Amino acid sequence: MSILIKSVQLNNRIVDIAIDKNRISRIAPSVDGVFDTVIDGSGKLALPPFYNTHGHAAMTLFRGIADNLELFDWLFNHIWPAEENLTEESVYWGSKLAILEMIKTGTVFFNDMYFYPQATIRAAEEMRIRAAVGMISADRVSPEKQKVYHEHNQMIWDMKKDFSDRIQLAFSPHAIYTVREDTLLAQAERSAAERIPIHIHLAETRKEVEDCKAEHNGLSPVQYLDKLGVLTDQTLCAHSIHLSDEDIEILAERKSILSYNPCSNYKLSSGRFRFRKAIDSGCRVTFGTDGCASNDSLSMFDEMKFGAFAARNEQQTPSPCSAAEIFTCATKNGAQAFGIDAGVLEEGKLADIMLIDLDNTMMVADHDYISNIVYSADSSCVDTVICDGNILMQHRIVPGEKEIVRKARETAKTLVNR
Ligand SMILES: [Zn+2]
Repeated sequence: MSILIKSVQLNNRIVDIAIDKNRISRIAPSVDGVFDTVIDGSGKLALPPFYNTHGHAAMTLFRGIADNLELFDWLFNHIWPAEENLTEESVYWGSKLAILEMIKTGTVFFNDMYFYPQATIRAAEEMRIRAAVGMISADRVSPEKQKVYHEHNQMIWDMKKDFSDRIQLAFSPHAIYTVREDTLLAQAERSAAERIPIHIHLAETRKEVEDCKAEHNGLSPVQYLDKLGVLTDQTLCAHSIHLSDEDIEILAERKSILSYNPCSNYKLSSGRFRFRKAIDSGCRVTFGTDGCASNDSLSMFDEMKFGAFAARNEQQTPSPCSAAEIFTCATKNGAQAFGIDAGVLEEGKLADIMLIDLDNTMMVADHDYISNIVYSADSSCVDTVICDGNILMQHRIVPGEKEIVRKARETAKTLVNR
């Protein structure tokens, strides 16, 4: 498959972008040749799309339940009971709905932690999006349920060789308060030996920090995980809100990846991520949406704007973050975190591209496109999304979207009694 995007705006010039198979083969003022598909890029801006580094895709099915609660009440008393009703089929349709929404909002990768990961992988493969899918552990909560998770984890591990290059697997210990220490130790060992990413919720609430200190001789969650050898350059820590200066230094030194989830952090009243301090300390900061029951959308536009404003509110200085920094965290940093050779539009890079409609009112005036993208634009500005050399959406149409919406709506009704 070859694609030519004609006459598109890229970094303040008009160019043609050629894609051969799944890589950007040429960027030049004019590219000749024969292509399977030619896209008219006039009036469009080419940008790297978004890489969503923390979420629970199928939680789209729980969007709108249990508002107005803090994390532990929300999780233990509302979300976990509703999740008892999940099946492989419902996770499949919830994941399809999530992926549809991600594509429509310019996202080409998501890092997922949820039940029935085989269903999420099936949905991601069908819709040709990139994903890191978690092998979940929560063995401090229920050893019986962990047996089922283990079966599913083993199943996807055994199927690994059949997945496309767009799918990778990660260990997903839910959090330190839900996963046993020997499990964390074993995963840290295997992660180091086999280069498997680890994806964990970390320091999301003050209670998590206090409980950890009480249980582990005064160690913070970061210090505790560091002691176990869990924190490396392939460990992604979601939320990472309640961090001391020392915690931030450890995370920077270990080159661990932080996923900033501003909408979820504020909806669950969990607290503020220390954006400026983390960036200035050399931490690898990315953006994630978290699941739809605590956000409630999967739009990275919302995360960028909200995240920038939250950083300003925290810092109360004139320059706590720039639009360019925020955009880099949501794109390039997210791709790099998962070893995806994309996140910038250059010859030789993987062909992940979104085309933004420059005639959308939110993109006018034309003084600073990145500022417009971070502070003004929403998903209606995204016209076309290309992932791994495949066109996932063109002129805002994703193939099969009506059926996905219908099936997801039906499925959600079977899960929640209202
Ligand atoms: Zn989460």
